[in-house]
Amino acid sequence: MARAPIYLDCQATTPLAPEARAAMLPWLEGPGSDGFGNPHSPHRMGRLAAAAVEQARDEIAALCPPGGRIVFTGSATEALNLAIRGTAPAGDARPVAVSTIEHAAVLDTVAALGVPTVTVPVGGDGIAKADAPLGAGTRLVALMQVNNEIGTIQPCDALFDRARAMGALTLCDAVQAAGKLAPVQADMIALSAHKMYGPKGIGALWVRDGVQLAPLITGGGQEHGLRSGTLSPALCAGFGAAARLAKERMEEDCAHVERLWAAALPLFSQWSVNGSVSARWRGNLNLRKKGLDAGRLISELRRIAFSAGSACASGSGRPSHVLKAIGLDPASAKGSIRIGFGRYTTAEELSEAAAAINAAADAQG
Ligand code: PLP
Repeated sequence: MARAPIYLDCQATTPLAPEARAAMLPWLEGPGSDGFGNPHSPHRMGRLAAAAVEQARDEIAALCPPGGRIVFTGSATEALNLAIRGTAPAGDARPVAVSTIEHAAVLDTVAALGVPTVTVPVGGDGIAKADAPLGAGTRLVALMQVNNEIGTIQPCDALFDRARAMGALTLCDAVQAAGKLAPVQADMIALSAHKMYGPKGIGALWVRDGVQLAPLITGGGQEHGLRSGTLSPALCAGFGAAARLAKERMEEDCAHVERLWAAALPLFSQWSVNGSVSARWRGNLNLRKKGLDAGRLISELRRIAFSAGSACASGSGRPSHVLKAIGLDPASAKGSIRIGFGRYTTAEELSEAAAAINAAADAQG
């Protein structure tokens, strides 16, 4: 029998928590059940489904600051689009400020708007400069809480304080941080279920009360007119259960990841860590080795799921703008890998993977 894969790519996606799966199942039932109602229908079945959606909304909101509401979307990418485009009235040409290491969902969306972009640089440690100029008349400042490629924790509070003082809106991409770290104070926060052991195909934008948003998708007027389309009670319930679990287990999950990190570092003593070690989500071990071809390494080690640090994590095959931003030359970026571990990773899996990765890397000479 083939041996089970070793999954070390938790920044790309996380396995569905059994609790999230269990919460989804009643809403995937068919004829003869009362689990398939449209949550926007007024009859009993519809109201049951709507109650599940609202419970999930509350569970996800509990990962965010008080004083706002959750708008469900199809992904965090859609949530970030809603935040960036939905706060820009037609013809608004005011600049938007973003760090150089934001996800493509932010960088490409701002670029597509065609407004001037103020770039907030990062240091060699992978941390944005919180004192960088934000530009005159900037309407929106976006900064991620944890970087998806190198795991560095960003100075959102410091940058957003300055943004607020100049009257700009603030947007936090918390996809890699929600359920792991305390929330930051922002006007909008983007979340994704599948990065916190929930299902794929659902995200959310948390919006502070009073922030004016225009919809990107019009139609039946669901989500208070902000995102038309029938919600999936199964996806919402799975997301909600995942969020509740993440909140309940935050300390335990964090301690587990710290233990794995401490165990992993000596296993990779021949490698250098990309990005700050201290201001970091320690479930992200982005490493580089001189002369290595990371792409080849990944194709040789088919039982282990991990990432090439040089390829943008979006899977587009674009070279990593993050490794470039922290000053790595193309050869160092090509020799970089990302090992991502989390709640369900064991120390045994990590050491088995490290032995295989090191042997294959050494064989490259
Ligand atoms: N932002 C960050 C930091 C991410 O890591 C990702 C996914 O890789 C996204 C946004 C997009 O999330 P989704 O897959 O829900 O569109």
